Amino acid sequence: MIYTLLNIFSSLGSLALTIYGACNTAKYGHIMWAASLGYFFAHPIVNEILINLYACIFGKLEKHNCLTKLRDHFPIVYSDAYNITAFGLEKLHPFDSCKYHRVYQGLRQMGIIDSSTKIHEPQIPSRKFLLEKMSALYLFKLNYSAYICKCLEVPLFFLPAWFLRLRVLNPMMRATQGSVDASCLAMKHGWAINLAGGYHHATCSGGGGFCIYPDITFIVHFSRKHHGIRKILIIDLDAHQGNGHERDMLQDHNVHIIDAYNPYIYPGDQQAELAIKTRISVTSYDDDTSYLNNLEVQIPEVYEQFRPELVIYNAGTDCMMNDPLGRLNITPEGIVQRDELMFQMAVERFKVPIVMILSGGYQMTNAPVIADSIQNLVKKFDLKRKFLNNLHKDQ
Ligand SMILES: [Zn+2]
Repeated sequence: MIYTLLNIFSSLGSLALTIYGACNTAKYGHIMWAASLGYFFAHPIVNEILINLYACIFGKLEKHNCLTKLRDHFPIVYSDAYNITAFGLEKLHPFDSCKYHRVYQGLRQMGIIDSSTKIHEPQIPSRKFLLEKMSALYLFKLNYSAYICKCLEVPLFFLPAWFLRLRVLNPMMRATQGSVDASCLAMKHGWAINLAGGYHHATCSGGGGFCIYPDITFIVHFSRKHHGIRKILIIDLDAHQGNGHERDMLQDHNVHIIDAYNPYIYPGDQQAELAIKTRISVTSYDDDTSYLNNLEVQIPEVYEQFRPELVIYNAGTDCMMNDPLGRLNITPEGIVQRDELMFQMAVERFKVPIVMILSGGYQMTNAPVIADSIQNLVKKFDLKRKFLNNLHKDQ
């Protein structure tokens, strides 16, 4: 509401300025003011119509050859352009907007990724890609900074939309492509991790909770379209309810959603809850024992009954202790054990491809824990050797 009001105030301010200009300038001044006012409001509309028309008539989805193109890439997807920066100002914010870079750096220092490791860097997806699932109206709204800020829940409405697009939307779009590409790598190697993504509050028709692009919905869509997969299991262990993908999957009976979230925090979306097939009980300040025990008991039952062909693991770390948003009490060791449990079930026990995306958790302490956890996964399940064996099999 506050953003809407501010938007109205800024529009009224522009209008007042325009009227003032029209009354106080030379003979044709008012025409100029009227033109500038018209342009101010109309140019996103004109731009969107042109972009969408172009995408519909000329746009082609890039030929889908991911299994060939990404064949020899290690299944960890990352780009430096994932990180959200604003000329150093981001360092003043208590949240770690560069956690992706710090996870990547951690993995390099640990030797999980070295100079010889071929890492896939995703590109910003085309409009045609976005229109496969997102509504044209939603994409249009993303031309207005007030709307973007409402989705991001940050009071940056005074910044122009183009700046937010460059600094925030483009990194998120790229990470969305990264999640889809990681799912392709998972089909090839049995596992993959995108060092970003997990925008689980975004739907195809709207954003919220710092999420703009519904990457989980895109993974579901493209896995079916390009890999012929039908049954998909989404395991959402971010501390918040994954209401975005849940709303998108309300009518999809071939998607099974497991959600373990703190019901006493954002978003409390009761309509989206209808899409949750298995809800894992979590309460404020739960600790490792009850949390891990619930996961260990409830998730294997779903594998046995639902028999998924792909697992999307939304590995949010805002359930870690001291997180001001998640308000749970899981230790760093608990996070490592949790991720290990998810990979143990998918990779070893049930042998289902798993794609892991990082989702929420922006304390400064999160990145080292995520890097430790990925190191543990790679070592525990011998993922590097399995990757190399897979490559040799192809040659
Ligand atoms: Zn969260």
